[in-house]
Amino acid sequence: MSRSQAAKADARTGAALDVERIRADFPVLSRRVHGQPLAYLDNAATSQKPQSVIATLDRYYSEYNANIHRGVHTLSEEATAAFEDARRRIAAFINAGDAKQIIFVRGTTEAINLVAQSWGRGRLRQGDEIVITGLEHHSNIVPWQMLCEQTGAKLRVMPITDAGEIDLDAGRKLIGPATRLVAVSHISNALGTINPVAEIVRLAKEHGALTLVDGAQAVPHLAVDVQALGCDFYAFSGHKLFGPTGIGVLYGRAALLEQMPPWQGGGDMIKVVSFERTVYNDLPYKFEAGTPHIAGGIGLGAAIDYVQQTGLDAIARHEQALLEYATAAALRIPGLRLIGTARHKASILSFVMDGIHPHDLGTILDHQGVAIRTGHHCAMPIMERFRIPATARASFAFYNTAAEVDRLMAGITAAQKVFT
Ligand code: PMP
Repeated sequence: MSRSQAAKADARTGAALDVERIRADFPVLSRRVHGQPLAYLDNAATSQKPQSVIATLDRYYSEYNANIHRGVHTLSEEATAAFEDARRRIAAFINAGDAKQIIFVRGTTEAINLVAQSWGRGRLRQGDEIVITGLEHHSNIVPWQMLCEQTGAKLRVMPITDAGEIDLDAGRKLIGPATRLVAVSHISNALGTINPVAEIVRLAKEHGALTLVDGAQAVPHLAVDVQALGCDFYAFSGHKLFGPTGIGVLYGRAALLEQMPPWQGGGDMIKVVSFERTVYNDLPYKFEAGTPHIAGGIGLGAAIDYVQQTGLDAIARHEQALLEYATAAALRIPGLRLIGTARHKASILSFVMDGIHPHDLGTILDHQGVAIRTGHHCAMPIMERFRIPATARASFAFYNTAAEVDRLMAGITAAQKVFT
């Protein structure tokens, strides 16, 4: 795509960002796939990394690779300072009151498992209930099922409507005196629905229940303020936020984290160890046993810097314009049915086609350099709800363009000619 073509395409979406300049910051976006320029539309699975993040990782390994917290030598002090500075920037990014409320984990999945086991296992018993929604990723379902098996608690599920929104009227009836925790995704990865999490937190609080928000899909797209939301826990992954894989964050309310026992035992999470008794470390280290992903934490700090410099408001405007443009184009294609038509959506377009399996469509698009995801998106209950085995899903980031949407739609039309 030429610069002028891209500019024209972006003018059509009313883009507020200099997308061509931004694209130049992401080296992988200039590669070709099957001889075609890459159109990377699988950002909900993982996002691409700007050069500043790649250079940050490179600098850590080239210049000051060392283990943290324990060393007195210069490299260890530099690595510790960079890691802890990243923690402070992450805290500010989601408006956590204190950096000690930011626990580094592997990703959203590990964050939710940590809460289920550390908070839930010793506390829940028969008669207690955990409420989730019909829109959850498997990582916000299975850890709670495991906890229910371990404690005798019961899992209850807020239903979703045909548009892919949480049915709050039905949900209200599920939250009551037996509810101990409500766990809800901020944005659905399979459908793109932006959920009314502040309202759900309020409902849970009325009944004295705690709340966990799975923010894996939210932090790359909208400004998150955990204190304004009022949630007790918030989880997200670095790799969907233009940072490295293998690093993520659990935010927790400080008083709650203080009360919770450690999840894993090992180095760094202790103050004193003897064979008779171990004294655990303070927050956040109590929950960070073993050598963490040091480069990952520092790299995530750099990714957040990049997002903040770009500006989440401008990102959201550009992505909303792309979503509207793509939705209108998709609706003009006969035989295409959108799955997920919520009023408030992030830049995710899930759909099925008459006569074409999503996997076949994905393969044909790949041959044109267009990368989308096909399958159940780790949300099998949603597929069951809509009585489909899979969807094709295009998910846009701020570096995507209307010209790429045009290529997606042209690829779908070409696939229709092959199959019908
Ligand atoms: N929740 C949601 C909404 C997600 O989209 C994902 C990743 N697809 C996860 C949780 C799990 O994230 P991770 O695999 O990075 O732990």
